[in-house]
Amino acid sequence: MPLIDEADVVIIGAGAAGTGAARRLYGSGLSTVILEALPRAGGRAWTQTTGGATFDLGCGWLHSGDRNPWTRIAGELGFAVDRRQSAWQVQFRDLGFSAAERAEANEAFERWNDRVADDPPATDIAADALDPAGEWTAYLQALSGFISGDELERISCRDYAAYDQASTNNNWRVPAGYGTLVSAAMPADVPVHLSTSVESIELDESRIVLRTPSGTLRARAVIVTVSTNIIAGDAIRWPSVLDPWRDAARQLPLGSNEKLFLEIAGASPFEDESHLLGNPHDATTGSYYIRPFGQPVIECFLGGAGARVVAEQGPDVAFDRATDQLAALFGNDIRRNLRPLVASDWTRTPSIGGAYSHALPGQADARSVLAQPYDSRLFFAGEATHRTDFSTAHGAFQSGIRAADEAIVALAG
Ligand SMILES: Cc1cc2nc3c(=O)[nH]c(=O)nc-3n(C[C@H](O)[C@H](O)[C@H](O)COP(=O)(O)OP(=O)(O)OC[C@H]3O[C@@H](n4cnc5c(N)ncnc54)[C@H](O)[C@@H]3O)c2cc1C
Repeated sequence: MPLIDEADVVIIGAGAAGTGAARRLYGSGLSTVILEALPRAGGRAWTQTTGGATFDLGCGWLHSGDRNPWTRIAGELGFAVDRRQSAWQVQFRDLGFSAAERAEANEAFERWNDRVADDPPATDIAADALDPAGEWTAYLQALSGFISGDELERISCRDYAAYDQASTNNNWRVPAGYGTLVSAAMPADVPVHLSTSVESIELDESRIVLRTPSGTLRARAVIVTVSTNIIAGDAIRWPSVLDPWRDAARQLPLGSNEKLFLEIAGASPFEDESHLLGNPHDATTGSYYIRPFGQPVIECFLGGAGARVVAEQGPDVAFDRATDQLAALFGNDIRRNLRPLVASDWTRTPSIGGAYSHALPGQADARSVLAQPYDSRLFFAGEATHRTDFSTAHGAFQSGIRAADEAIVALAG
């Protein structure tokens, strides 16, 4: 599809936020074009089918499923939604983490969570809400890695609490894949130019000029949905008037989260829909979701330091660590049943640069700064711009709708 040279609105990025914006603009009467750097739509929502299994390399859970707009969209598009409770609280056969230890660890988490919400430290540093003599610090750091993608020293209490208080405990799934759902929700009539990276954004008096390797596009309004690491980085040349937005993005860095999928071969002890935390005393531990939907795979979720191994030492080392962790629990023979299948590499994906955003201590307000429009013609969406539902696909989607509404009002004016 050749790139046209003029549009009312250009959306940069075809992820969940870009999809939300496109759905809102569709039928508004405004011509809309999407430019996407990757050769596929979906961004951090990406489903793959391989080795006889379907799985999500990025978002997989419809968090706050009861109020998540993707639940409604799944229904409208004919996708099944699995509403069973997740198995995260299950420790398969109590291996390596007894019920008594789990109760203690959970109490330590609750105490920390209550302090963060009700009596946060003046520093706003989430690590300062830890019990100084606590025995479960490594466990809480591991959870911080899963939830926020980074260590508690770099997490804002106020930002974390805003998410926690707004979320519900319903974590649902789409068996066909969250990524499949997000891609299917893109309106068919909105042109999406894949493998088309915006290299620079320039402002002239009446138009915004976007330069790409496939040509130059001029728009009356632009909705930027790229991740905070891309806004803060150098892959796009930004006009200097946007320095305050780039400064805000630097306060909302993406953490590290990666997934490894191991294929289960032969007869094995693994049971459908069960779960294991690899080692509750290791802050870099993997969290293993076993045979999701009965498929012959184990999904290993890594966060923070555990996930940084993928970018720093490569997926082979990360697979070896995961296999060693499972062998420590099941015995060495289990190695015969496990084969590396596929690993995500979000940090080294040039147009993404990490997993999801968290505010640095004292910087929770940066989300509102980043969400401000510039000059009624440049609008900012993306998960990081949502004040409470950041780091999720539904927060991203809602931010896209919000930015599209702002653009519609501005262009009508
Ligand atoms: C491992 C992992 C697990 C996760 N688990 C969950 C979960 O269970 N539930 C949940 O709700 N969320 C989860 N998330 C987070 C969720 O995936 C994201 O918050 C959401 O998908 C972000 O959507 P977005 O549209 O804001 O950004 P993106 O998906 O990053 O979309 C932005 C798009 O812009 C494109 N782009 C960047 N630069 C350019 C450029 N110069 N020109 C053109 N295009 C460009 C990118 O390629 C990308 O496609 C997870 C994320 C990861 C990484």
